[in-house]
Amino acid sequence: MIDPLPILQSTFGFPGFRGVQEQVVSRVLAAENTLAVMPTGAGKSLCYQLPAVALDGTCVVVSPLIALMHDQLRAATAIGIRAATLTSVDTDQMETIARFRRGELDLLYVAPERASNESFRNLLGQSPLALFAIDEAHCVSEWGHDFRPDYRLLRTMLDAFPHVPRLALTATADAHTRADILEQLGIPHDGMIVAGFDRPNIQYRISPKDNITRQIADIVAEQPGPGIVYAQTRKGVEQLAERLASTGRKVRPYHAGLDPAVRARNQADFVASEDMVIVATVAFGMGIDKPDVRFVAHAGLPKSIEGYYQETGRAGRDGDPSIAHLFWGAEDFAKARQRIGEVEPHRQPGERARLTALGALVETPTCRRQILLRHFGDPAPDTCGNCDNCLNPPGAIDATEVARKFLSA
Ligand code: ADP
Ligand code: MG
Repeated sequence: MIDPLPILQSTFGFPGFRGVQEQVVSRVLAAENTLAVMPTGAGKSLCYQLPAVALDGTCVVVSPLIALMHDQLRAATAIGIRAATLTSVDTDQMETIARFRRGELDLLYVAPERASNESFRNLLGQSPLALFAIDEAHCVSEWGHDFRPDYRLLRTMLDAFPHVPRLALTATADAHTRADILEQLGIPHDGMIVAGFDRPNIQYRISPKDNITRQIADIVAEQPGPGIVYAQTRKGVEQLAERLASTGRKVRPYHAGLDPAVRARNQADFVASEDMVIVATVAFGMGIDKPDVRFVAHAGLPKSIEGYYQETGRAGRDGDPSIAHLFWGAEDFAKARQRIGEVEPHRQPGERARLTALGALVETPTCRRQILLRHFGDPAPDTCGNCDNCLNPPGAIDATEVARKFLSA
């Protein structure tokens, strides 16, 4: 079998594998169908990019976002990997198809809606395939937090090439979603590899809202280094960004309603900056690789524990101490319940379970990390020593409060 280490070092310039990468890559090189569950920043892309270089034939990568594909394309091309994207916005589609037919592509990135397309399947039959990589694979599950109906159509494409190995990748999958991914994509249960989810350098802090603008402004004023503030709506982003400007920090907004050129500039400036705060909707951050984000602050309840983990996971990728703040109010839960009432009935139980899990996280008087890690099936000690509840046990605060009242009565 091919030795992946020399390729890791020469093509990717990394001295060694991280975590479970080596295990995942070996399975893929042995043509075994695999689901890799690895946290954000763990290096999932390498798990298919390296085999794509090592193996004969093209690796077809399914990815849900065009912007993400183009980021990946740039990064892969920069290190000499022969890659292309085939999406509706690409003007060089004819050339890409010709390159694929000539066997000149290591990586071909496509959107999931192509998979159902018969002419695309015909095209795939015209040149050797090395691998199917399905990125953000939780999108295939209605239990997942980001279901995309187009992911369901992937199975037709995969089954049309039964001898081509499949690698599904996701950062965020609870037990139910994982089982669903295996089933939907035809991967055996013993083909799942799960990496540790703990991010010990991130300190989790969760509090009720009182004056949310002031609470966020205090953090932004006090905490140095680059930071991301997540607001729930575009309007919320605009308002917060405006108010935070008075903290004296460099603050920029980011949401889908901004002029694309402004949005791209704000993102690029943030990535290059050592002290900027970006106020954004959750659309921000996917595919951004900025190692030195020192804090993430949620001005309101995230959509799910998976979303919370993914968004807070953008802090401290360099391993240095970082803080994840979250402020929530009872009205966030009321709104979430209302939203659940509006989704298709068969999806409501899953959505309700997700909201309950999130409620347990924000309301717990015990270790936050324990709840997070156990949610992802990771073993976790009772106390982590690096969350608000471990650092300031609420029981102790209540007891002094009770004692004070008792004494003053
Ligand atoms: P994920 O998709 O799991 O969030 P990425 O594939 O975007 O993560 O990788 C995150 C970062 O880790 C990238 O900057 C990548 O270059 C880097 N990386 C990946 N594998 C290694 C490795 N073995 N050694 C050092 N850095 C790595
Ligand atoms: Mg990724």
